[in-house]
Amino acid sequence: MKIISINTGSSSLKFSLFEMNDESVIASGLFERIGMEGSCYTIKFKGEKVFQEVELYTHTDAVKILLDRLVDLNIIHSLNEIRGVGHRLVHGGSKYSTSVLITDTVIHDLEEFSDFAPLHNPANVLGIQAFREVLPDVLMVGVFDTAFHQTMKKEAYLYPVPYDWYKKYGVRKYGFHGTSHRYITNCAQKILGRDDFRLISCHIGNGGSICAIRDMKCVDTSMGFTPLAGIMMGTRSGDVDPSIIPYVMEKEGKNASEVLDDLNKKSGLLGLSGCSNDMRDILAQVDVQNEQCILAKDKYVRSVVNYIAQYYVLLGGVDMICFTAGVGENSISVRREICEKLACLGVKIDLDLNHKCGEMVKISTDNSSILVYVIPTDEELMIARDTLQLIGR
Ligand code: ADP
Repeated sequence: MKIISINTGSSSLKFSLFEMNDESVIASGLFERIGMEGSCYTIKFKGEKVFQEVELYTHTDAVKILLDRLVDLNIIHSLNEIRGVGHRLVHGGSKYSTSVLITDTVIHDLEEFSDFAPLHNPANVLGIQAFREVLPDVLMVGVFDTAFHQTMKKEAYLYPVPYDWYKKYGVRKYGFHGTSHRYITNCAQKILGRDDFRLISCHIGNGGSICAIRDMKCVDTSMGFTPLAGIMMGTRSGDVDPSIIPYVMEKEGKNASEVLDDLNKKSGLLGLSGCSNDMRDILAQVDVQNEQCILAKDKYVRSVVNYIAQYYVLLGGVDMICFTAGVGENSISVRREICEKLACLGVKIDLDLNHKCGEMVKISTDNSSILVYVIPTDEELMIARDTLQLIGR
């Protein structure tokens, strides 16, 4: 049975086509610059890569071409083989705590929650509508980034601000990367062979969030009302004192959204280093003793360690810490530095094992008090699994 996982952005559409019998990826790819000049697509399958520039006026154009090409390239024989479409949906507000079959109500709710995710939710709706138009009889499933975090208690998700803000406007912590943290949780369950464990999942990529998990459920997470909160990221500041905003507005003659833009796009690694948002560039500069880059890297490590320490106490001890996403899966030195700072909690890692990248690997030593794993995340597979489960075998 074949299931397609879709991640729609405002001008892009990413897909992975799975054969669910063995959960293998048959094809994957990206449609880019939809509605802009220079639109194009890339499809990868069986070690081949097809790239083509093509006019894509709308997301529906992208979906039509995608499905045509899947057949033309003999990746599938007919569209009937695609039994379900799973969509990554960013914001489900307080309403969605699990994945759901997509109905008109879900689309309406996505539009309703667009205030919370103005870039993402409208794009997600475009993706759903495009597939509805082209594959009207195929069941679709929505998998929300926020859903996994809905198990947080009020004490965790409320901000200490006027309660009316929450009641009237939905001001609360929602949390993001939920599909990735849930994937990591499921992997931890398989590794440990039980459901009752305390896990800290560190999804550290260009965006990043840390999640505290007890008995398979999210207890707290570092991102908040928006993905700007929490740890320091590639271009995002993470947690800062909000009084900085009016202060910088005044000093630079900017409005609130311009300063917010600086916090989202010009801060984090990029802001502190002044040179790059990419940890690889930062680390290359650290090697040549670039002081700004050493500062940026040190601050990054500190901000991740702070959240791990906080969640260690919150969970009353931890059974497993997992690293995932771009930095977590690939950066040997960042993992090592984070773990060295956790030595006071009894964390010990094997420096040889820590050299492995791109695969699931235990990097803690046998006498470490906490298991430490690197687990490559797979949000697309999680979406496909949820889709399969909800459409029924
Ligand atoms: P996104 O949040 O956009 O999904 P990813 O999870 O793909 O991001 O992570 C991308 C980031 O991972 C890059 O910006 C880079 O900082 C980091 N990264 C990737 N490979 C390495 C590596 N070998 N060493 C250090 N950092 C890496």
